[in-house]
Amino acid sequence: MAGAPTPINEAQRQLQVTQLCRLDSTPDDVFEQIVAMTAEYFNAPIALISIVDEQRQWFSARVGLTAQETPRRDSFCAYAILANEPFQVLDATQDPRFSDNPLVTGQPGIRFYAGVPLVTPEGLGLGSLCVIDTKPRGALSSHELSMLGHLAKLTMARILSLRRANFIDQPTGLFNRARLEGDVAQATADDEQRMVLVVADVIAPTRLNDIVRVLGYEFSQALMHSMKERLQAQLPEGSCLYRISPTRFAFLTAEGPDGAPTSLYDQIIAAFEPSIQCNGIPVKTRIGVGVLPLQTGVLEQDWLRLAISSADDARECGTGWSAYEPQLDAAQQRSFTLLSGLSQALHAGGQLRLVYQPRISLASGCCTSVEALLRWTHPTLGPVGPAEFIPLAEKTALIRELSFWVAERAIEQSAAWQRHGATFKVAINVSASDLDGPAFADHVTAVLARYQLDPRNLEVEFTESALMVNPEEVSRQLQRFRSLGMEVAIDDFGTGYSNWTYLRDLPATTVKLDQSFIRNLSDDEKDRRLVRTIIDLAKRLELRVVAEGIETQAVCDLVAEWGCDDGQGYHIARPMEADALLGWVGDNAQAS
Ligand code: C2E
Ligand code: CA
Ligand code: CA
Repeated sequence: MAGAPTPINEAQRQLQVTQLCRLDSTPDDVFEQIVAMTAEYFNAPIALISIVDEQRQWFSARVGLTAQETPRRDSFCAYAILANEPFQVLDATQDPRFSDNPLVTGQPGIRFYAGVPLVTPEGLGLGSLCVIDTKPRGALSSHELSMLGHLAKLTMARILSLRRANFIDQPTGLFNRARLEGDVAQATADDEQRMVLVVADVIAPTRLNDIVRVLGYEFSQALMHSMKERLQAQLPEGSCLYRISPTRFAFLTAEGPDGAPTSLYDQIIAAFEPSIQCNGIPVKTRIGVGVLPLQTGVLEQDWLRLAISSADDARECGTGWSAYEPQLDAAQQRSFTLLSGLSQALHAGGQLRLVYQPRISLASGCCTSVEALLRWTHPTLGPVGPAEFIPLAEKTALIRELSFWVAERAIEQSAAWQRHGATFKVAINVSASDLDGPAFADHVTAVLARYQLDPRNLEVEFTESALMVNPEEVSRQLQRFRSLGMEVAIDDFGTGYSNWTYLRDLPATTVKLDQSFIRNLSDDEKDRRLVRTIIDLAKRLELRVVAEGIETQAVCDLVAEWGCDDGQGYHIARPMEADALLGWVGDNAQAS
């Protein structure tokens, strides 16, 4: 059998189902009571509150049935929602629409069915409240029908009030983000009137945090209340305000004949010029307004993020308000693609690998260590450089996993080379967040033990930026590596804040002079003097000095003469695949 026909307003009906009904198994006491009462009143073995979803019917509450859902095709309630009146089947085995229905021929063996549709104020049937018997029955009396109708109304009232509660932002009493999502879906469905979504970010989240810290939570709540009122006073007639995050409000308004109503946005920004007086304290805020025209297709995009990032841009650029610009978002889109792809790459295998760049002793020409550098081949974008994706990963928790992955691969590789009699170390690059707690060092220690690799074969490189947040903790973690016997190098040295006093206190063994100094050394007298000074100071602190980015023999000779211990750069060797490395080391040893 084909099942019940689909209502003509099925698309709108579905929208209401998703907005109003929770199709999950969280039980609701009121629904449970209603089905219990229904079963008892009608003296029926089965009573259900059934919601008809796209492909299935879902029971929000049930008596006498174990299944939580059945396919829509088999659903009696799918018939009940077709009309705004009760639907009865007195003996299903005698009804050609149901006689071969599996719910009739098999369990629970439905014979009698009476259902009243659950109808929204807009007249859309979401599902039904029904009584079912496994024996045939006569038609319900008018009194019984009216009783079933009342119970269905009660059910509908509960659905609406549950939803209303889920739609309110408690502290402000405004509609919340969930409600906005529903309303935007409806606004885009209406093609008569183009709407725009306006997001107002009233205060930077970091600033709100500062206010909570200094003036307390109560004060911050009072402040948000004042901001809400100030914003509400500017709203066009008929618009209502939503609160979509602790610092952001939103509203929908009609697009004017020539596009967005720009004077409205200027007005809002002007209204936020004067400080807000809150409990006698004036607070200066900086508002950012983001505008997103709700054209068709907008729902397929991440529309709320687009509107929010327009608001952020507006504040950052100081323009006050900004409309969503597709070009501006291309970079963000790429970041998003890269970040989600990276998380897959970590689990999929085959996309990430390490290449190794040799570093040699300038005195002997021997390879002292090789630096592990991450490479990623994205399935559609092709090779993506670490200079692009590592800073992105560092903004998220992904960097943790990525660093773990690098450490593990590098240690495994180093152990394999050691078994082949290698004498060089392997250096890995670590990020600031790898050093802000014990997790990374714990991991490295465990992996070293697992591969039985002597820690002295490993070196970590970190940049001075790691010291920005919590230098004591970073020092502590670096000290752990040192006490295992690992080398610790300060990477890109000379580009950070290069405070010589901190250098003395760090447990570092090595500095790697940044490439930007080394690459053009032969041309610039001032650069030369600077580099010589840095080398001298580092040597006086008994640090090993490495020159990075050596691209010519002339530069190589210069830095050797000035006392650099090691050199690394394209002139010596480019980063290479692991299985090419031993060959290179052998050839290099013969040449030097
Ligand atoms: P870095 O640690 O300073 O690594 C040196 C970078 O300079 C590498 O780029 C290397 O290929 C390049 N290079 C080496 N010699 C020369 C030269 O003579 N001339 C020029 N122009 N470039 C040279 P790469 O592999 O693209 O890595 C870029 C940065 O990405 C690295 O800079 C490092 O900060 C980061 N990175 C790479 N792998 C990892 C990793 O596994 N973990 C972390 N946290 N960062 C990594
Ligand atoms: Ca490095
Ligand atoms: Ca470097």
